[in-house]
Amino acid sequence: MASSIQAVGSGRFRVLKPAAGAPSAVTGPVVYWMFRDQRVRDNWALIHAVDQANKANVPVAVAFNLFDQFLGAKARQLGFMLRGLEKLAHYLQDSLSVPFFLFQGEAIDTIPNFLRECGASLLVIDFSPLREVRRWKERICERVGDSVTVHEVDAHNVVPVWVASNKLEYGARTIRAKITKLLPEYLVEFPIIGPPKNKWAVNPKHSVDWGQLIADVVRKGAEVPELEWCEPGEDAAMEVLMGSKNGFLTTRLKSYATDRNNPLKPKALSGLSPYLHFGQISAQRCCLQARQIQKSHPKAVETFLEELIVRRELADNFCYYQPQYDSLQGAWEWARKTLMEHSNDKREHIYTREQLEKAQTADPLWNASQLEMVHYGKMHGFMRMYWAKKILEWTSGPEEALATAIYLNDKYEIDGRDPNGYVGCMWSICGVHDQGWRERPVFGKIRYMNYAGCKRKFDVDGYIAYVKRLVGGTKKRKAEAIAE
Ligand code: FAD
Repeated sequence: MASSIQAVGSGRFRVLKPAAGAPSAVTGPVVYWMFRDQRVRDNWALIHAVDQANKANVPVAVAFNLFDQFLGAKARQLGFMLRGLEKLAHYLQDSLSVPFFLFQGEAIDTIPNFLRECGASLLVIDFSPLREVRRWKERICERVGDSVTVHEVDAHNVVPVWVASNKLEYGARTIRAKITKLLPEYLVEFPIIGPPKNKWAVNPKHSVDWGQLIADVVRKGAEVPELEWCEPGEDAAMEVLMGSKNGFLTTRLKSYATDRNNPLKPKALSGLSPYLHFGQISAQRCCLQARQIQKSHPKAVETFLEELIVRRELADNFCYYQPQYDSLQGAWEWARKTLMEHSNDKREHIYTREQLEKAQTADPLWNASQLEMVHYGKMHGFMRMYWAKKILEWTSGPEEALATAIYLNDKYEIDGRDPNGYVGCMWSICGVHDQGWRERPVFGKIRYMNYAGCKRKFDVDGYIAYVKRLVGGTKKRKAEAIAE
C-alpha cells in the first residue's frame, strides 16, 4: 500500500494517495471505482463520492472493471454479479442520475485510462483485504498521475478494518470489545443522498450490452452453472432480509439462536451471504434492522450480530494483517508445529482432489455436503466445518488439505472467494482463531469433528435424504430446460 496512507475524518475513508500540490482540492470529476460494494443504497463509498463531488460542484460517475479472470469465478458467481450490476446501473441512473461505466480487462489499465479521459481529480475506491485487490490499488495509485487524489472507503464493514484494530487479532475474544466500543459511533443510520448538483455528460460509446455480456460469461463459465434459487440485486437482498413472506428478520429470525447449527433447517440461517459477499446489501443495514427487533428476540439478534459483525470483521482483520491468509504459513506457531508433527501420520483414507470434487468418498454425510455445494451452491454453515476438517483427514498433509478446500470453496460456493471463506478454511484446518485441543492422530491439537458427533447433533440420514432431493430436483429442472 502507498506509504502516504493517513486516517482522515471519521476514519470511514482514508487517503491512499494525495494529489501533488493541493492534496485536498477536488477540481475535476469524481470517479468511484466500485468492486466490493455493488449497491446504490447504504453505500458509504458512493455517499463519499457524491458528497465530495457536490462540495466541489463537479460531476460524479461509477466505474466497474470486469476482469478476464478473478480467483477462478465461473458462471455461478459472475452471472449473479453481472445480473446484479445490470439492475444497479439502471437504478443508479434513475434514482441519482449518476452514470455507470463498465470496463473489461485489467483495472490497472482501464481505471487510469478512464480517469485521464474524463479529467477526474478524485478516485474513490472500495476497501478489500485481499492481496490481488491491494496490488491493483498500488499500481493504480502509481499510474493515475500527480493531479489525482485517491480515497479508500471501507463500505463493507460496520467499523472500518483499520479503525477496529491496528494489528492482527488473536480471535473473537480480542476483537469483540474493540468493535463493540466503536459501535455507537459507527453503527448509525446512513445519510440520504440525492442526485449530484452537477450532471455528467454521458459518452454513449460506453453503453453496455448486458444481454450479450452475461450470455458470454455464462457460456465461458458453464462448468459451474448459475443458481436458480438466488435472485441477484439490491431489491432481492432486501427481500431476503425483510420481505413479508419469507424475510429473515420478519419471519425466520426467531429460531436463529437454536437452529442455526442444524443442517436440516437451512431456513434458520439468514441466507444473506451471497448478497453480503457481492456487496448487494450493506452489513450495516442488516445490523440496524436487526437491532430494531432486539427487544422481541434478544438472544437471536445477539447471536446474529456476533456472526455478522464480530466474526465477519475478524475475517477481514485476518486477511488484512496476515499476508499469508490462505496458507499454512499464516497459521499460529502452535498450530503449524502440531500439524507438521502429524503430517506423516497414517490416514485411513487418502482421496485425490478429483475424487473429493466428485463426492466419491466412503462417508455419505461428507458426500452430501459436497453435493449440496456443487449443485445448490451454498453449503450449510455447520457442514462447512465438518467438510473442511475431513479434507484434512483425507489428504496427504495440511498444505494439500488447505489448498483443496479453498479450491473447492471458491469454485462452487456462491459466496466463495471471500475473506470469510479463507478464514473458514484456515479455522477448520489450521486452527486460526481457535485454541489447541486434546492431541490425536493427523489433527494434532486442531479441533476434531467426526460422523458420530454429527449424529448426536442432528438427523444425519435426514440431511443426506434432503440433499438427494435437492440435487435430484436441480438436475430434473436442468434437463427439462435443455429439452424445451
Ligand atoms: P448466517 O448464519 O445467517 O450469517 C450471517 C452472516 O454472518 C453471513 O452471511 C456472514 O457474512 C457472517 N458469518 C456467519 N458465520 C460466519 C463465520 N463463521 N465467519 C465469518 N462470518 C460469518 N462465509 C462466506 O461468506 N463465504 C465463504 O466462502 C465461506 N466459506 C466458509 C468455509 C468454511 C470451511 C467455513 C467453516 C465457513 C465458511 N464461511 C463462509 C462462513 C459461514 O459458514 C457462512 O458465512 C455462512 O454459512 C453463510 O450463510 P448465511 O449468510 O445464511 O449465514
